Formats: sequence, structure tokens, C-alpha cells
Amino acid sequence: MMRAFVFPGLTTRVVFGSGTLKRAGEELELLGHERALILTTPGRRSEALAEALAADLGPRAAGIFAGAVQHTPVEATGRALKALDASGAGAVVSLGGGSTIGLGKALAARTGADQIAIPTTYAGSETTDILGETSDGEKTTRRGPEIRPETVIYDVDLTLGLPVPVSLASAMNAMAHGMEALYAPDRNPVILALCREAFAAFRESLPRLTEAPRDPEARSQALYAAWCCSTALGQVSMALHHKLAHVLGGAFGTPHAETHAALLPYATAFNEAAVPELLAPLAAAFGADSAGGALWDFSERLGAPLGLKGLGLAEADLDRAADLAVAKPYPNPRPFDRAAIRALLQAAWEGRRPVAA
Ligand code: NAD
Repeated sequence: MMRAFVFPGLTTRVVFGSGTLKRAGEELELLGHERALILTTPGRRSEALAEALAADLGPRAAGIFAGAVQHTPVEATGRALKALDASGAGAVVSLGGGSTIGLGKALAARTGADQIAIPTTYAGSETTDILGETSDGEKTTRRGPEIRPETVIYDVDLTLGLPVPVSLASAMNAMAHGMEALYAPDRNPVILALCREAFAAFRESLPRLTEAPRDPEARSQALYAAWCCSTALGQVSMALHHKLAHVLGGAFGTPHAETHAALLPYATAFNEAAVPELLAPLAAAFGADSAGGALWDFSERLGAPLGLKGLGLAEADLDRAADLAVAKPYPNPRPFDRAAIRALLQAAWEGRRPVAA
């Protein structure tokens, strides 16, 4: 008999293709706004892109705020709030990776501004109702309907120049959303189908884009997979893998996407020991017996990050990381204690192929 489920429905409008950046103006109009503030991260490339978008939007552009910062510190949000207020716009266009999209969400949560997200990485924040913010060095996460962007424009062209190492780490970050969705207690058949789509599309496209980074077909498949994974993250709950990534990023400042990438084979193998049948779609996507082993082999072949020790984490930090990871209980398909998490972190730190245990 089919497992009982609730499908909450999808609310984010998605425009996908090549050259779709040009459609930001009409999408803004559809949302009922005359003007929007453009958000991005500081830097020559991102600011040039934001200026090109502003030129496209013409009078609909209410200015550019190029001050998005990773992990959405409240100070940066405060500066952006002033810019939004001064601009008089009722909407934002977040053009960039998860950091920029996070800033758009922080503004929407405070002002009710509508958001158009235009992601340029595969991190997957764009369709979720999740906002992570940092205050006094501590990152807290909340969910709410006002946080989810109204519209997402995926423009494959924007990803053609995403450097291969960033692309791979970011894709593994996305794949982690799909992996944990497979065993989420609130999973539903639509999300599971999207996860299978994502695994197949990433398996196809990542080796191709590693060889030919500007291959539009490979980039298009990878961006499609990112959308599938973002949708999974936005609908169902995450568990141990996301908790560990959050702890390492928050307490030790390890880079977000790379941390997800380095942890993924180990968290997968750990939970696979308890629920192999739920992780079977991931193993099957790689034609492998083990999902954790397949992810490690895939990462190694591509040159994606493996081994937390390469991310500036000292072996001595693993004890505190294990303490933090078990400080508060949360659901996970495999029960664990501190010793089990410490062993998982050790293996992930060393970067050796995970063994079923
Ligand atoms: P990011 O947004 O910080 O981007 C990484 C770097 O890549 C930046 O320097 C950026 O300028 C650059 N970059 C972005 N797109 C580029 C492109 N196309 N070409 C060249 N350079 C480009 O990193 P990220 O990994 O996309 O996002 C990480 C952040 O997103 C974290 O703060 C994380 O917590 C958050 N996140 C949130 C959710 C959610 O649902 N709330 C989901 C995933 C990630």
C-alpha cells in the first residue's frame, strides 16, 4: 500500500531557460511592482552583472545594494534595510548565490517585500521558506511563508562562468538536500520524484561540465537538478547531515558549500546503515550498491571536496564539533550517540572512503 502523505503544493513561480534574466522586468510587473532594489554580493563580476540587470530594468530598477554577506549577518541586513527604505521599492531582485538570496529573505521577513530570486550557484536557497541569520557569531534558522521568494528566474547563461570547484561544491550542497529528503518523515511522492530527477541530472552533467565548463547542455541539466533539490529542501525536513554542516560552518567558520560536499558521503553512509531501502534511489542513480560509497567515488572522480581537514578544520576541533552536534536532540532515521558522531566526523575529516558500519 502507498505510504500516507501530505503534499503541501508548490507556490514559487519558476522561469527557466537561457537569456531569462531579460524577463525580470515582466516578472516584476506580474507581481504588481513598478520598482525593485537589486541585491548582490560585492565584487567586480557580481556588481557588473547587477548593473547589466539594472540597465535592462531601466526605470524599474530602484538601485543596487551590493552588500550581501555569507550567513546573512544582521548588520548587513540593517544596511540593506536602509537602502530599501530609501529606494521606496516594494520588491527586491536577489541576483547571486545563497548569500544574496538570504539577504532578500531577511528583507522580506522584516518588510513583507516581494522577492524575485535569480540564483547563480546550485546552493538551493531560492525556493525555500528557510532563513538562516547570524547575530553575535551565532546562526539561527527559522521558517515561514513570508520568507519564500515569489518568483525564481533560472538563467543558465549566468552559470556558464561559475568556476568548476565552486560548481562542484555547490552541486554537492544541492545533492545533500535531495539525499536527506529521501528519508524525511514528511516526504511525499512529488519530492521523491524530483530527487530522482536531480540525482540523474547531476550524475550526467557534473562530469561533463568538469570537462567543458561552458557546455550549455551540462549547465542546463545541473541548474535543473539544483531546482529539484531546492524544492526538496523547501518542502521537507532535514536531519543529521544538515545539522553537522550547520555546526561546522557556525562554530568553526568552514565554507558552506564545501562543508556540505565533504560531509555528504559520510552522513549518507551513516544513515544508509539504518534505512538502506530509503537511500536506494540515490545508490541506483549511480548504478551502485551503496549510496555513501557512490557519492564518495563520484566526488573523488570529479575532484569535489573530500576531507574536512582540507577546509581549515583541525583534528582537535572534532571533539567540540561532536559535543555541539549532540547538544540538542533532533530527528534522524538512525539513532546516534556522541561516540558515533565523533567517529563519523573523524572519517569525514580524514576523507577516506566511507565503510558501512
Ligand atoms: P555564495 O552566495 O556566498 O557565493 C559563493 C561565491 O561565489 C561568492 O563569492 C559569489 O560572489 C560567487 N559567485 C556566485 N555566483 C557566481 C557565478 N555564477 N560566477 C562566479 N562567481 C559566482 O555561496 P552559496 O554557496 O551559493 O550560498 C551559501 C549561503 O547560502 C550560505 O549562507 C547558506 O547558509 C545559504 N543557503 C541557504 C539556504 C536556505 O534555504 N535558507 C539553502 C542553501 C544555502
